[in-house]
Amino acid sequence: MPVAKRARSTPSSPSAASPVTCTRTRRSTPATSTTSMNNNSLRAAVVGAGPSGIYTTVEILNRSPHARVDLYDLLPTPGGLVRYGVAPDHHDRRNLISVYLRKALATGRFRYCGNVEVGKHISVAELDRHYHAAVYAHGASDDRSLGVPGENLLGVHAAAEFVGWYNGHPDYTDMKFDLSGHRTVVIGNGNVALDVARILLQRPHALIRTDISEHALEALTTSKIREVIIVGRRGPHQASYTASELIALRELDAAVHTNLGDPELRPDRHVAEAPTYASVVKAKAMSDLLRASQQSRSDRQLTFQFLTSPVAILGTDRVESVRLVSNTLGIGPDRTVVAHATTESQTLQTDLVFKSVGYRGRRINGLPFDQVRAVIPSRRGRIIDLDTESTVPGHYVTGWIKRGPSGVIGTNKACAKETVASLLHDYEAGLLAAPGTSDIASLRAVRQPDQISLEDWSRIDRHEQRAGQSAGRPRRKLVTVADMVAVARRN
Ligand SMILES: Cc1cc2nc3c(=O)[nH]c(=O)nc-3n(C[C@H](O)[C@H](O)[C@H](O)COP(=O)(O)OP(=O)(O)OC[C@H]3O[C@@H](n4cnc5c(N)ncnc54)[C@H](O)[C@@H]3O)c2cc1C
Repeated sequence: MPVAKRARSTPSSPSAASPVTCTRTRRSTPATSTTSMNNNSLRAAVVGAGPSGIYTTVEILNRSPHARVDLYDLLPTPGGLVRYGVAPDHHDRRNLISVYLRKALATGRFRYCGNVEVGKHISVAELDRHYHAAVYAHGASDDRSLGVPGENLLGVHAAAEFVGWYNGHPDYTDMKFDLSGHRTVVIGNGNVALDVARILLQRPHALIRTDISEHALEALTTSKIREVIIVGRRGPHQASYTASELIALRELDAAVHTNLGDPELRPDRHVAEAPTYASVVKAKAMSDLLRASQQSRSDRQLTFQFLTSPVAILGTDRVESVRLVSNTLGIGPDRTVVAHATTESQTLQTDLVFKSVGYRGRRINGLPFDQVRAVIPSRRGRIIDLDTESTVPGHYVTGWIKRGPSGVIGTNKACAKETVASLLHDYEAGLLAAPGTSDIASLRAVRQPDQISLEDWSRIDRHEQRAGQSAGRPRRKLVTVADMVAVARRN
């Protein structure tokens, strides 16, 4: 489908039909110091400073030697789920944020615009007027619901809330979790469920060496939870977790069980499907984990309850139990392994439940949105209008909001490369209308006086690391936007 021209509404903008050429002369003044801009070199906005937005930024800057990129995030801090999703005991994975942002800064053609929400402080139409192209990389941060009665009872939480809370996300700082019971049920068996279980069962001395938020460290230190049951609707070969996350569980001081025994030892283990390499590796990792924990004398128990689905969460004022139905496996119309409910059921007593059945993207006004998949519809990274099925010129998408919430940090790199290749192709083919000459920085300053630049972020970063060092920790995170802004404004 050819890319249609986008008409610009600003009087200062040149004809949308005039081709845009890529100048070969290097700018003599750094882009960051200008308020009125040369129209020829590519100007791109990237919305969302998670890994996909950061990879996209660096890819544009590397591949287009005169391009300038503004990277927006609604939070003061860059990193997205790398800062607020990745578990604190895996905090070394957060290093990519500063490594890549330093690369971007070194080009002299990059600005970080933190604490600026697109759709609130700056609209999609305003980005259109100030950039040749905008790449939307705003992730998928909303949780999916279970769709069973009782899921809104007190004591039932989205895993996303718990993850945000222990990672110090400003939106979840004030949440309270009742950790006074013995048993917790986690519904869903992806990597996030494993993170939640690991953090709940981790001993305080292991957490204190991480960058977990102070409020979570304090609450988990006195936690009475000793048993976590992870409920998955299909079998160990179809579980959503990855083998590497199972391997990470070997570090946990807990006795591990499954309701099916050792999956490697079951003669019917591949009855429902031909084994794939991934399913065999996963089963082997589970087998090794079970064997390693056989001699465990730990007072902490982790049970993988396969082939079961929740049908109701029960309780009067708050959750008291979860009713589960047993499943058998079959092959669905698309040849995937599906779970079929049987009449066999059981009830697990618990006063804390986490729903970990996936994330959903959130709509930004002015952009197409596929309600069913909760993603922005696209073709090779070009956003598609759902009514006309044609691409929307100058609008691109990458990361979880493009593919849906799956894939590890590195998966977003290839995704960003595909999107940037489409963007640069369109730009070089003259398909992107040139923006007006005014710098959006003045508009941003009016709309969001508490905007955070990369220098501001460096100040926050140094402050957190220094505060951590004095406590023997990698960092102590600031957990409110007000505190971050205050530190950023300190001389
Ligand atoms: C709990 C959890 C743990 C994980 N652990 C690991 C792990 O250990 N290892 C691993 O490899 N992968 C892990 N992943 C997967 C990895 O985090 C994702 O692949 C990756 O973060 C997706 O990147 P993204 O940039 O698309 O989205 P995100 O990381 O969500 O980034 C989106 C960014 O957009 C910003 N934003 C949203 N809306 C707006 C707006 N309107 N205006 C401006 N900015 C906006 C958000 O603030 C956010 O910073 C984990 C995922 C989760 C959920």
